[in-house]
Amino acid sequence: MTQFVYAFNEGNISMKDLLGGKGANLSEMKRLGLPVPDGFTITTEACMSYLKHNEQLPTKVKTQLIDHLAAFSERTGKSFSSDDHLLLVSVRSGAKISMPGMMDTILNLGLNDDNVEKLAQKTNDARFAYDCYRRLLQMFGEVVYGIPMMAFDTYFNDFKNKHSYQSDAEIPAEGLKKICERYKEIYRKEAYKPFPQEPLKQLEEAVEAVFKSWNNDRARVYRELNDIPHDIGTAVNVQEMVFGNSGAKSGTGVAFTRNPVTGENRLFGEYLLNAQGEDVVAGIRTPKDTETLKEQMPDVHQEFVQVTKQLETHYKDMQDIEFTIENGKLYLLQTRNGKRTAKAAIKIAVDLVHEGLISRKESVSNVDVKFIDQLLHPNFNEEGLKQATVISKMGLPASPGAATGRVVFSAEEAKEQADAGHKVVLMRPETSPEDIEGMVSSEAIVTTHGGMTSHAAVVARGMGKCCVTGCSDVEIDTVNKTVYYPDGKLHEGDTISVDGSTGDLYLGAIETVDAEHSEEFDQFMSWSEDTARLQVRMNAETPQDIKAGYDFGAKGIGLVRTEHMFFGPERLIEMRRFILASNHEERVQALEKIKTYQVEDFEIIFKLSQDRPTIVRLLDPPLHEFLPSSEEDIQNVSQQLDVSPELLRKRIVDLSEVNPMLGHRGCRLAVTYPELYEMQVEAIIESVLKLQQEGVTCQPEIMIPLVSSVEEFTTLKARLVNMITQLENDSHQRVEYLMGTMIETPRACFIANELAQYCDFFSFGTNDLTQLTFGFSRDDAGKFINVYTENNILQLDPFQTLDTQGVGQLIQLAVEQAKRTKPEIKIGVCGELGGDAKSIRQFNQWDIDYVSCSPFRVPGAILATAQSQAEESER
Ligand code: PEP
Ligand code: MG
Repeated sequence: MTQFVYAFNEGNISMKDLLGGKGANLSEMKRLGLPVPDGFTITTEACMSYLKHNEQLPTKVKTQLIDHLAAFSERTGKSFSSDDHLLLVSVRSGAKISMPGMMDTILNLGLNDDNVEKLAQKTNDARFAYDCYRRLLQMFGEVVYGIPMMAFDTYFNDFKNKHSYQSDAEIPAEGLKKICERYKEIYRKEAYKPFPQEPLKQLEEAVEAVFKSWNNDRARVYRELNDIPHDIGTAVNVQEMVFGNSGAKSGTGVAFTRNPVTGENRLFGEYLLNAQGEDVVAGIRTPKDTETLKEQMPDVHQEFVQVTKQLETHYKDMQDIEFTIENGKLYLLQTRNGKRTAKAAIKIAVDLVHEGLISRKESVSNVDVKFIDQLLHPNFNEEGLKQATVISKMGLPASPGAATGRVVFSAEEAKEQADAGHKVVLMRPETSPEDIEGMVSSEAIVTTHGGMTSHAAVVARGMGKCCVTGCSDVEIDTVNKTVYYPDGKLHEGDTISVDGSTGDLYLGAIETVDAEHSEEFDQFMSWSEDTARLQVRMNAETPQDIKAGYDFGAKGIGLVRTEHMFFGPERLIEMRRFILASNHEERVQALEKIKTYQVEDFEIIFKLSQDRPTIVRLLDPPLHEFLPSSEEDIQNVSQQLDVSPELLRKRIVDLSEVNPMLGHRGCRLAVTYPELYEMQVEAIIESVLKLQQEGVTCQPEIMIPLVSSVEEFTTLKARLVNMITQLENDSHQRVEYLMGTMIETPRACFIANELAQYCDFFSFGTNDLTQLTFGFSRDDAGKFINVYTENNILQLDPFQTLDTQGVGQLIQLAVEQAKRTKPEIKIGVCGELGGDAKSIRQFNQWDIDYVSCSPFRVPGAILATAQSQAEESER
């Protein structure tokens, strides 16, 4: 028969799935012989069974509960009905992963009108007994019957005021008795039923309330935010009460074995004398530092220090411990790995290695990748964030960081205001290459359209600039310079704060905490690099970004998006000249000028990379992206290029496409205009030849994008190789280069074995591959993907985390085929998934050589590869 209830002495730490984190830890502490009040755990399986059976406690669970109560009574000599040895218990929820939002705790369960008197007589302390009872009535009412806490609190505070009691402790027994009577009336009024007097009924109802709380809205939202499955359920822990509120030699508190904010190796604890658990949390009285316990109860203090050390050594991590002292005796009520800030996480991980408690590999595995992002970007001050007014919580966390600034609606305005010394936030429905200067000038970028791979997201991430995209409940009216959000409007110049790590927008300014770089961080990253198998490269093209990426530990460049090099005004105009040319000669002429810019750029890039591999992708986007869109721009460009506005408009219409993402872009551009890629490759090779003469080693890798047939690749490759050979011969130099393709279409995956024969490398462009596999537009999917994830139609946004079933299968197939055809072929991933920890975990299992991501994601990616490798080596 399935065992649904386990006594603490039957379990251990390996049973977290069944007993939840709290239950498994209580069992483990019991096993270690630590002073833990006795009890038992009702399993997560019982919870799932309860929820499946239309919220009926299955008979088997009920029977086992009663059996365990009997065994428990036998062990402790206490029972719910005993006059002298009254049993009272606490009931606490405890999922495998600790989850705020679920029902937490009911204390003193078992008390009723009759028992409370017995307790008063036995302890000779009526005040204590009725204090326990009023707490039970309040907690039970609130969590089991859903009576608003206010209903109890209002009466309690009125009572104190009426009698001029300054603190709860001043309320005498008689007063507490009155409060209990009144509380019972509140039950009738608010819940239409009396407080259950039968202890077993109290227990059953409390257990059911815990199980039910698994599905409350807060818990569901928390699980969704933290990727916790909905079907693992929570356990319930029933534990004998010990009383921190039973006099001056009693108390209760919480301690961290190290400082959770800084990571400093010093016990950090707080406690209150003569109090029960929730008093510490409620903050009504100011708790004392556990150091002062040394004077008040030296023996207890000594034991406390010793057990906290023992727990930390046993768990090999900083512990968050709840304890109670009852009449001078110490009890432990809970231990778990303590929550900590990013800074503390790194310090603790490094210190534990130096103290010989864990290995470097364990240290690397212990730190959440999210912390790395937090350490590299400013964050909002937590208090400020709590008090801030929300504008929207619908946006996507496109590029982490925290920034405050005045709202502007155009790139020009952003630049102008920034030049005048103001901090600005650029708000646009979406961004385009023309906005680049404005983006550089802004503190943050917010868009209402587009997802994690939209132009704004990709460019901002590359710059390490805070960005929120796809803010679908906000409307940006750039004409009237107004933002409409659910609760109001914003105008140009209003101040807002943008949290790129959560996707949230706030009204007004919020104080930020700067990014910190510590010695421990460097040490930790070097251990991560040593553990990792996959190499991490960066997607970057500006000198600033490239330097940042190399500082962060990138091993090369996985993607230079050459279109990003045409953003500056002088370059854009030449590109426009090329696009508007009416014949081959005019095109070649325009390209000559562009080439000089490209040579300069490539020289800088290769010089920064030196002997590290650098993939340059030939031009990819549809050409109309480079053309002006507003009438004002059309007028300007027509003057600059000396063409009539009519002709310009006609050309824009000619170039416009119904589905530009599926249109004339990628290698298709070069099939129609081969001179375009020839110019780019000539520029690459010329810059390399020049650098080689100066003694600089270069490792250029030339990448042809969006290939979907072998002939596309071979035709272009033949022309380009011919040209390179010519350049080599003319210069009497050799250039070591690779030529490969981006795998971005499902068809390319299916023909990977053939493509591999002609390619030196493959790089998976997972942004386009995801778009084309699902048929979801990468720029518009933001509008509906959240509905898919909320309704469990998709578990995760496939543009943020690899869809293993579909896109993943295509990648796996292509990798296997390519490596079988050509074992030495180099394979990487350069789409946004290349910087996502979960996706990296998957890539690490396939025969992939590197991932590539924007510079600021490099350290997180290195840690993710290290953790995946550490995990795999343990299998
Ligand atoms: C991709 O498609 O994954 C990719 C890296 O290319 P881009 O985002 O520039 O289309
Ligand atoms: Mg692409």
